[in-house]
Order: sequence, then C-alpha cells, then structure tokens
Amino acid sequence: KLETKKMELNKSIQAFQKAKQLIPGGVNSPVRAFKSVQADPVFVAKAKGAKIWDIDGNEYLDFVASWGPMILGHAREEIVQAVQQAAERGTSYGAPTLIENEMAELITSMVPSVKKVRMVNSGTEATMSALRLARGFTGRDLVVKFAGCYHGHADSFLIKAGSGAITLGLPDSPGVTKASAKDTLTADYNNLESVQELFQKHGDNIAAIILEPVAGNMGVVLPEEGFLKGLKQITEKYGALLIFDEVITGFRLAAGGAQQRFGVEPDLTTLGKIIGGGLPVGAYGGRAEIMDKLAPDGPVYQAGTLSGNPLAMAAGSVMLSTLKNSPSIYDELERKAAMLEAGIKANLHRTGVAGVINRIGSMMTLFFTDNESVKSFEDAMTSNTARYASYFKKSLESGIYLAPSQFECLFISDAHTDEDIARIIAANEQALKSV
Ligand code: PMP
Repeated sequence: KLETKKMELNKSIQAFQKAKQLIPGGVNSPVRAFKSVQADPVFVAKAKGAKIWDIDGNEYLDFVASWGPMILGHAREEIVQAVQQAAERGTSYGAPTLIENEMAELITSMVPSVKKVRMVNSGTEATMSALRLARGFTGRDLVVKFAGCYHGHADSFLIKAGSGAITLGLPDSPGVTKASAKDTLTADYNNLESVQELFQKHGDNIAAIILEPVAGNMGVVLPEEGFLKGLKQITEKYGALLIFDEVITGFRLAAGGAQQRFGVEPDLTTLGKIIGGGLPVGAYGGRAEIMDKLAPDGPVYQAGTLSGNPLAMAAGSVMLSTLKNSPSIYDELERKAAMLEAGIKANLHRTGVAGVINRIGSMMTLFFTDNESVKSFEDAMTSNTARYASYFKKSLESGIYLAPSQFECLFISDAHTDEDIARIIAANEQALKSV
C-alpha cells in the first residue's frame, strides 16, 4: 500500500526565491525550474543509489538520473573512491595523462565505429565540435537535423529544438543569427522522404545529418524499421556524414549504444553524460581519417583547458569499465524496465486514462495522448501537457521524482530494485486516477 503524506517544502521554496534573485530563472539549466509543470523545484541535498533527498528532508525514488548519466545509481562506491583518489593527485593539469588513454581505449573498444575520440566537457561541446569537423572535412556548410531532436544549445541546433526548448515553447531561440539559422535544414523524424527532398535540393552542400538514433528529447520515439539505414544510404550517396548523437543512448541502450542495437554505423558519434559518471564531460569520435582533420594534426580547430579532466576521466573509466565488464547489467535494466512498462500499461487500462508508453531498454516515456502510437514529433506534440503536469505533481507527492516535462525520458538505473519498481507502479496508478 502506498503511503502519501503532505510534504514540507518550505526550505526549497525559500531557496528558490533567493535563487531567482541571483540566477536567471533561479536555475542553471531551464527545465530544472519545473516551470512547465507549474511547480516549484525541490532543491537537492544528496543522492545515493536510486534515491535523492531534498533540503527539507523528503526522500524520493529518482527516475531522472541527472537526465541520464546515473545508470549505475548515485554515489556508487567505486566511482566516489576513484574521484576522491584522483582529486588528491590534483584536479587539473592541462597536460596529457594516462587515464585519457584508458578512456579512449574503453570508448573505442565499446563503440566500434569510433576509431579515435576527443574528450570535451559537455554534450553541447561534443555536437558543436562534431558539426564543425563535419563541415571542415566535407568543405560544405549545411546540416540536416530533425524537428524535436535536441543536440545541446549551440546556435546551429536551436532550430526546432526538443527538450527544454519545446517544453518552454522556445524551439527557435532569439540570439541565433539568421546566417546561422539558414545553414540548418530540418526534416521530420522517421520520415525519409523529408530528408530525401532536402538532399535533392541541397545535396551538394550538406555536410552532415545529425540525429538522436533513438529520440529522447521529444520523449522517447523509436526509429522505425529502415529509417537509420535509409539515412546512412542517403549520406553515402551524397558524400555527407552521418552523425549519431548518442549523448543519451550511448552506453545506455547497450555497451555500444543505439548503433550496436540497430546495426547502423555512423561516421561520427557524440557522447556525453554517462561517460563522466555524472561529472561534466562529453566526447566525439568516429572514422580515423575524419578525426585526423582535427588540430594539431589537421586544420579544424577545437580545444579545451579542462578537456580530459582527471576527475571526470577517473569517474568515467570506472563507469565504462563496469558497464563493459558486466554485460548482465543491461539484461537487468531490460527486465526491470519491461516490468515497469507492463505495470504502467496495466494501470492505463484499469484507470481508462488515454496514454502511449514508448520504451527501449531502460529509457521510456508515457505520453498523455489520445493517439494509438507515438512515432513522430507531430504525434508527441498531441500530448496533453496539462495532464502531464498534474501527473508529475501527484507522483512527486508520493515520493517519485520524474522529469518535469512530458518531452523527456524516464530512466531506470542499476540501483533500482524490484521493490522500487513495484513502488513506482503503485504510485503511477494513484497518479493516473487523480488526472
Ligand atoms: N545531445 C543530446 C541527445 C542530449 O540529450 C543533450 C542533453 N540533454 C545534449 C546533446 C547536450 O548535452 P549537455 O546538456 O551536456 O550540453
């Protein structure tokens, strides 16, 4: 039986009031403000395993996982130790280290299409740099992205962007110049024809297609049969590069990411989040002859004082070697996620609430839509966001911490137990009843 008690949130409310005077919108990244679900954010004090605690002392089961990276749960012992030990040896040198070799070996051994890899400090940096490299390599200017996909906040990608940008109704940001915007062409996810049309018109000047091979930033939308292969064929035909943005899916859907699961090799891959075990990090890599165009060996410039940071590398190497050496983690994630999916489906049926649940591996989204399925950005946008907001608040009250937006993922981690899954299924039923 699920227990819900009225939560005290006074300290969080006060902290947010102060934050709003000092930090734009009170937050350092927009969706954290809970604006679209019309709630005040809870301020986090600490996290361990599958749980987080706010500064008022409330406990939550966490299904946000810092928006993806905490696939082994929070404050995993081996990762904490690795970071502590690294910190004692110094927090940054701006010089090469052995652990960077180790990370590069781990990444290239787990993601076979990545022959060489460059570390950066965020997913945004990874995609921004990969695009520059694609342009430098092909000598072309245009990039094709998909409406509703999010690739960080570099100018070229804030065109029909997903994630916080759609959640807040800001798919096209002011401040992006017309000159930048005109070099970004947009197509429709799961619609090869929309891509072909762009290539028929502009094929000689398209440097790359970039996409989330499984969309996560419009909520979870899976690629339909043949979509990824079709994109690969189009890029090959026109001499453009295919970039998979695996910032969410990398090391989550399999040790080799979505590209392993779907058997399609991109030319370049962008990675982030998981590879830092929660520390600020990103990476991009791919075919050696493309990566060799980067400075200092090649002419395409990209750099970073803190890139390959020893703390991030220490956390990341434990994270990746754990995932590499215990493949059963993925089987367990699949089992628990399937259990949750089945539970939510049964709850939808029982309560009569209209909804579609899309899942692959340990990422899923419950869309509050009357549609039978969600296969495109257009389908995702039919969701009732007001209903999601009330579902979110009800879940939070029963100690379940979900993404404060309809257009995000729910993540299962290795730290979630079967009891945790049973608890969220019970909370889900209550929340559905209340919407
Ligand atoms: N690409 C994808 C697919 C993402 O989901 C995100 C972040 N959610 C980014 C890029 C940007 O990463 P970061 O927030 O680390 O800059």
